[in-house]
Amino acid sequence: MAKYIPLSVPSLKGDELKYVKECIDTEWVSSAGKYVDKFERDIASYTGSKYAVACVNGTSAIQVSLRLAGVMPGDEVIIPTLTFIAPVNAIWYNNASPVFMDCDDFYNIDIQKTIEFIKNKTEFRDGNTFNKTTTKKISAIIPVHVWGNACLLDELIPLCNDRNIAVIEDASESLGTRYIEGKFSEKHTGTIGKIGCLSFNGNKIITTGGGGMILTDSTSIAEKAKYLTTQAKDDPIKYIHHEIGYNFRLTNIQAALGVAQLEKISEIIKRKSEIHRKYKDGIKHLDGINIAEGPNYAKNNNWLNMIIIEHSLFKEKPIELMQRLELNNIQTRPVWALNHLQKPYNLYQSYKIEKALKMVDRSLCLPSSYSLLDEEIKLVIDKIHG
Ligand SMILES: *Cc1c(COP(=O)(O)O)cnc(C)c1O
Repeated sequence: MAKYIPLSVPSLKGDELKYVKECIDTEWVSSAGKYVDKFERDIASYTGSKYAVACVNGTSAIQVSLRLAGVMPGDEVIIPTLTFIAPVNAIWYNNASPVFMDCDDFYNIDIQKTIEFIKNKTEFRDGNTFNKTTTKKISAIIPVHVWGNACLLDELIPLCNDRNIAVIEDASESLGTRYIEGKFSEKHTGTIGKIGCLSFNGNKIITTGGGGMILTDSTSIAEKAKYLTTQAKDDPIKYIHHEIGYNFRLTNIQAALGVAQLEKISEIIKRKSEIHRKYKDGIKHLDGINIAEGPNYAKNNNWLNMIIIEHSLFKEKPIELMQRLELNNIQTRPVWALNHLQKPYNLYQSYKIEKALKMVDRSLCLPSSYSLLDEEIKLVIDKIHG
C-alpha cells in the first residue's frame, strides 16, 4: 500500500535528540533550565521582538496576552470568524466575548470592514471604545495571520491606538512571515501589535510538541507575562501571591526541541516556498482550481497550501475531493467551520460576514509538510487531476 501523506507533520532530524538528551542527562527536564531561556532569546532575536516569554501552548499565550492587554470580564474583543477556534476560546477564558468580522481574499480579517465597524458602530468615550449595539467596552482585537498570510496592519494600528483598542496578533501560523512593503516593512508578523503570540504545536512550522510564545517590546508586559505564567510568585520563598497566576511555563525538554527546530527555520521556509511553487506549477493548467496566493506586501512562510475551487468549472466540491484523495492515502482538510456559526458562539455579534462563507465553501488545505518529497507533491497533483 502506498505511504500515507499527512497534512502537516513535524520533522525532527536536526539537533533535537542531542539537546533533549542533554536535558535528561543533566536532569533539567522541568520548567527551569537553560533551554527555556535560550529558546526565548533565540525567538526574540529571530523575530526582532524585544522580549519573548515561553508558554505551554499558543492558546494559553493568547489567553494571558488578552489579560496583559487589559481585557476585563464583560469586555468585547474583535476577532475574525475564519480562524482556528483557539483565540476565540481564549477570549472566553477571560470572561470576555467575541465580535466576529468577515475575511479578505487572503482568508485574513477584513481590515476595511473592521475599520468601518470601529468608525461607524462604536463610540469613543472617556478614553475607551464602546460597541453601540451591545454597549460593551471593546478593549482588544486579535488579527490572526492565517496560513502564514500576513494581515495588512498599516491602517488598523493607528486607528486602534487612537481608540485604545489593544492589538494582539495571533501569529501562531505565521512564524517567519515578514512584511516587505508598507509602514511595517521588514518587521515579522507578531511584532507589530502590543503583543504577538506564537504556537509550536506539532502541525506548525516549527514545533516543541506543544508550546507557545508571547512577543512584546514592552519591558513591563514581558515581566508581567513571566510573572503570570509562573503562578504569580511575589515572594517565591514564602509563597506570597498578590495575583492569580497560571502554571503555563514551557518545560526545558520542550524548549530544547524548540531551539533545535529554530536552527532549521530558514531551511524549512525555503523548502515550504519550493513546495508552494511546485503545487502552483502543477495545478496551473487545471481549469477551476487555483493555489491560494499570499499577499504581495509580505514574504510568506508558506506554512500550508490551499486550493480554491471554482464550482462552475470543477466537478468536485472540496469535501468530495478530500474524500477521494483520502482513498488515495492523501490527507487534506477543509477550512475551519466559521466561529460565528459554532454552537458556543452563535449568539454573539457578527458584522457583515459574507466572503468567509464563500471562502470556506471553495477551499481545501493540501499536504504541506517540510518533509514532503517531490514525488509525493507530484502524486497529490496527479490525484487532484483525477
Ligand atoms: C495552532 C493555533 C493556535 C493555538 O495554538 P496551540 O499551541 O495549539 O494552543 C491559535 N491560533 C491559531 C490560528 C492556530 O493555528
